[in-house]
Amino acid sequence: MSREQQAVARARKAFETGRSRSLEYRILQLKNLQRLFEEKQKEIAEACKKDLNKSEVGMQMYETLGLEGEISLAVRKLKEWAAPRPVEKNLLTLSDTVYIQPEPLGVVLIIGAWNYPWAVTIQPLIGAIAAGNAAVVKPSEVCVHTSKVMEELLPIYIDKELYPVVTGGVPETQELLRQRFDHIFYTGNGTVGKVIMEAAAKHLTPVTLELGGKSPCYIDKNCDITTACRRITWGKYTNCGQTCIAPDYILCEPSIQDRVIEEIKKSIKDFYTDDPKTCPDYGRIINQRHFKRIMAMMEGSTVAAGGDSNESDCFIGKTPTQKTQVKQEITFEGFSPIFGPLLPILPVSGLDEAIKFINKGEKPLALYVFSPDDKVINRMRDETSSGGFLANDCLVHFSVSSLPFGGVGNSGMGCYHGKYTFDQLSHLRGCLIKKLKMEGVNDMRYPPHTAKKLGW
Ligand code: NAD
Repeated sequence: MSREQQAVARARKAFETGRSRSLEYRILQLKNLQRLFEEKQKEIAEACKKDLNKSEVGMQMYETLGLEGEISLAVRKLKEWAAPRPVEKNLLTLSDTVYIQPEPLGVVLIIGAWNYPWAVTIQPLIGAIAAGNAAVVKPSEVCVHTSKVMEELLPIYIDKELYPVVTGGVPETQELLRQRFDHIFYTGNGTVGKVIMEAAAKHLTPVTLELGGKSPCYIDKNCDITTACRRITWGKYTNCGQTCIAPDYILCEPSIQDRVIEEIKKSIKDFYTDDPKTCPDYGRIINQRHFKRIMAMMEGSTVAAGGDSNESDCFIGKTPTQKTQVKQEITFEGFSPIFGPLLPILPVSGLDEAIKFINKGEKPLALYVFSPDDKVINRMRDETSSGGFLANDCLVHFSVSSLPFGGVGNSGMGCYHGKYTFDQLSHLRGCLIKKLKMEGVNDMRYPPHTAKKLGW
């Protein structure tokens, strides 16, 4: 048996003992996980620094604080989430008890991505534990140091049979995918998303796919451009642009394009100083493969600022680029998310053209609009589709546990965060409990079916 087969078999066996079903046990595991984040900040921060040059505070802000919030929410609400949910009855079932009973699915496979290696791997795990499942955790091998720390720490704090960590790259993930799971929760790019779905189909295993996409950002010429650009600069350059919901490109009218560039340059300087290379808050591209991919995208565009780079250190400066030939230069076919610090600014004649342009592409993971006018915001919302929609800010919807987070169309399927993760990783079982009394009322449903019997 391979290492992967063994981990899955052990998790299945542990699930079959039934211990993950007890609410007390789930809460204990969640609290243990909470303790891991309280006690091991240093180890987690050091690994994130080595992998992505994340600062300790930055790592806490974007990785562990959100996880701790999700854990306390799950601990606080678990009894309510797991309780039977009474539903409306119809005439035939008036005297019955009718409810939805969430039940664990079984063994879940969680495959994480590298850009927020703790957030995107552990957040689904919180829901998997809360919902009473076993879960095999596969962190991204691209984050070499973080995946090692995860492999070392998780078994010390939580049940290592129920929630094993399997490290490794493509061959190990593919070996895992040959096993039978009850749900697969994958975060990463869409090409691999298709591989996951194909493997899942062999076992009829349901999937959640948290993918990427080109999240557009429209700036209305009547808005407060200084504030809009500060917020966009933050959304774009956090983690060096390697955020699944980072604004991918800006659409605005030519009349404000220069102002937008100036304001972005100003915000870049405010946030990351004149010398981002030495600024502790400015990250690095994860590896040389991605470095080369991003540098190749820059070719042929007019660099408005930055543009400097250093391959050995995987450093790329924050680079707003001006595109004047929108339709020729950026088409959606084959144009993958930038996932780096390049920010193309594309001219459009106004809201109508922006909506048309966005709708020509695949449905994005997030869509941003900056405008003081509700009519502009509502038109953008009603005439487009995307995983999430934000007006006058970037990224923050990720932190709201009461909002479902996920993609639509090419940006993914299924959603999570807070109770949505619990529901996503539960089977919502429809239950109807009837008494063996009052058989008389059932007479009309038994053959022979005559109009007379029904009183017609
Ligand atoms: P990655 O390279 O770390 O791959 C993700 C996972 O897939 C890893 O665990 C890896 O081992 C596995 N994998 C890779 N190739 C595989 C293959 N051929 N067969 C089986 N498994 C394989 O990460 P990535 O895909 O580069 O991640 C970046 C992408 O993730 C971006 O597109 C980003 O938008 C997206 N993302 C989405 C979200 C979200 O919440 N929707 C969050 C973070 C990242």
